[in-house]
Amino acid sequence: MPVSTTVTGMVLSAMPVGEYDKRLVILTKEIGKVSAFAKGARRPNSALLACSQPFSFGEFSLYAGKSAYNIISAEMSNYFGELRDDFNSLCYGFYFCEFAGYITKENIDEKNILKLLYQTLRAITKKSIDIQLIRAVFELKIMSLNGETPQVFGCVKCDKQTQKSNVEENGLRFDKYYFSAESGGILCAACKGFDKNAISINTSTLYTMQYIISKEIEKLYTFKVTDEVLKEIKKCIKCYLNCYIDHEFKSLEILNGI
Ligand SMILES: [Zn+2]
Repeated sequence: MPVSTTVTGMVLSAMPVGEYDKRLVILTKEIGKVSAFAKGARRPNSALLACSQPFSFGEFSLYAGKSAYNIISAEMSNYFGELRDDFNSLCYGFYFCEFAGYITKENIDEKNILKLLYQTLRAITKKSIDIQLIRAVFELKIMSLNGETPQVFGCVKCDKQTQKSNVEENGLRFDKYYFSAESGGILCAACKGFDKNAISINTSTLYTMQYIISKEIEKLYTFKVTDEVLKEIKKCIKCYLNCYIDHEFKSLEILNGI
């Protein structure tokens, strides 16, 4: 008998293989992102039918094959079925899974990205926060968890700090900020000339970015912002991703077409 291992994870994608099988990509807490075959998963009475679709979350019992794992059994705790109730939510769900799949690797500790993905899908199903804000929070946080955090606590060029602990008590030490994707963070008024494309942002936008970057994942989807802040954050993150993610997400093409 091959040695089996039990992991907790979420299915990011599921591709049909052969006549009855599926090849899943699972983001796990224990062994990062892995490929696993679900043999016979497309047979109508298969025990692996339910676990073999995107967003399925739970425990998978696996054994290592030559090039991928094989699923022996699975016990799901959440399917995020509500995402399939409307096309928009479903497309965002696919996009977040595709992004997480793009950025993660096998045998790397990816449990924070798994946690972020889980909380993000929960936030969509709750529908209490604007999905555009959910997207902005997810994109900024996943970049940060992946080690590409924009510098938003001080000017990238001259290092003038807005200490995160005293921003709210003492107010700002300089009142205007510019977000420069190219420079990797914010520029103060004196340094904004370093990037002619730097985006002028409100202090509330800066606070929001600081909050997203510094807060624990469980507390990310607990706030709302004004339309103006949302507009600015979306613009900053779009530029940031353009600079640092050299990839076209397929699910985004569908979303952009909605
Ligand atoms: Zn500066």
